[in-house]
Amino acid sequence: MLSRDKLFIGGAWVAPSGKQTIDVFNTGNGERMAKVPLGDEKDVDAAVAAARAALEGWSGGSAEWRAGFLDKIAAGLKARADELARLIAQEVGMPLKMAARIQVGLPIANFANYARLVKEFAFEQKVGHSLVLREPVGVVGAITPWNYPLHQITLKVAPALAAGCTVVLKPSEVAPLNAFVLAEVIEIAGLPKGVFNLVTGTGQKAGEALVKHPGVDMISFTGSTRAGKRISELGAQSIKRIALELGGKSASVILEDADLAAAVKGTVNGCYLNSGQTCTALTRMLVPEGKYEEAAKLAAEAAKGFAVGDPLDDKSRLGPLTSLAQLERVRGYIKKGVEEGAELVAGGLEHPDGAPAGGYYVRPTVFGRVNNSMAIAQEEIFGPVLAIIPYKDEEDAVRIANDSPYGLAGAVWSKDDAHAQRVARRIRAGQVDVNGGAFNMNAPFGGFKQSGHGREAGVYGLEEFLEYKSLQLKG
Ligand code: NAD
Repeated sequence: MLSRDKLFIGGAWVAPSGKQTIDVFNTGNGERMAKVPLGDEKDVDAAVAAARAALEGWSGGSAEWRAGFLDKIAAGLKARADELARLIAQEVGMPLKMAARIQVGLPIANFANYARLVKEFAFEQKVGHSLVLREPVGVVGAITPWNYPLHQITLKVAPALAAGCTVVLKPSEVAPLNAFVLAEVIEIAGLPKGVFNLVTGTGQKAGEALVKHPGVDMISFTGSTRAGKRISELGAQSIKRIALELGGKSASVILEDADLAAAVKGTVNGCYLNSGQTCTALTRMLVPEGKYEEAAKLAAEAAKGFAVGDPLDDKSRLGPLTSLAQLERVRGYIKKGVEEGAELVAGGLEHPDGAPAGGYYVRPTVFGRVNNSMAIAQEEIFGPVLAIIPYKDEEDAVRIANDSPYGLAGAVWSKDDAHAQRVARRIRAGQVDVNGGAFNMNAPFGGFKQSGHGREAGVYGLEEFLEYKSLQLKG
């Protein structure tokens, strides 16, 4: 069993203030695979002090200088890519090959991308007789979830460092092991002491200590809407800048003139990615009433194609969920869907055939004839559970798509691209895929409504960590 017993603070691996630890489990078999320190207020204090002390030197250096470190971090992660992919496949549950491509490939690309972007960024602009400067916000507390753990971390750490901020990272207690590898890579890259600090622990203890800390200027949070609300309340006490990337319940709108087979396949893939534990998962599939039967049949067939199994097994297309708590939660929603009267088209509560015992496995599930007011259509399940919702006409489809407390993502399908775009413009969400358009790491990523505020990725993500300052010049 892996034992991580130190925190990375002020450029060194230091013993935590307390002796308590948190267990990390292998999602494939439910066995304990590691333990990490349960950091507390004292550890957060030490990390914030180190980050504050490092701020002037780091922010005072040139963008090119900081970019050099980001390139080194990208190279360091790349050198440990195989190890990271295995680690994340086990702690999160995503099948290995996919984890290598997404969970490790994106973080490497993120660091390299920000090294490039920060060199191109205009930190100064003349506006009339003023010189408008973009300055780093200061010390950033980054709090991240477990579903794409390293990707979510790098979407904060890379642009924050590029901007000239210093960082205290509190990663998810469920999948924290990848963060230790990142800290080791950062140590080897030789960043000045205190620029990046790692404190592991729970949200209630280390997380809240970071949010409340007067020495922290900004909290960048990705996680549940529930925790986002609590963080907003706590952060308001010290008027912190807060960026929130929260949950979603995204609609995939299949228009009357769409290629139904391609649209259903694309939606099911978008729903089941990472066992449905994706904030942008397309969990509500909206189909014209007249095409419901055919769409349900296609979705059930697509679901059958997702072989459930151990994330390290090459044959697995759907790995386990990330924790026992997730398994119970998702099973609870499947039960609820049946009780609410939705039609169970595929999947259900039984342990998936062939999946190892002990792991957190659930069947890829499809509910048909879902009414948008049902809990399975309104609440984020965070598992491989698709809800098919029939609609009357296009107006009805747009109304249903927008009838959600969330507004993170969506999709629209039509044989006519212009038609799909017209409908996509009417969806109140931060990103909408048009006919299966791919994820773009330079486009802004974030939500409307209770999916949060602020944007990550690309230059938009860099701007999150900058303040404006204007110098009024004479003459
Ligand atoms: P979570 O909210 O339980 O935890 C996220 C992080 O916040 C963890 O590090 C946790 O320790 C910490 N935390 C929890 N309560 C806290 C508090 N009161 N104060 C400070 N920190 C606290 O979420 P999760 O279960 O880890 O992740 C799943 C959620 O994340 C889903 O809702 C998903 O939609 C969302 N998510 C959103 C995005 C996005 O970009 N919009 C991306 C990935 C995941």
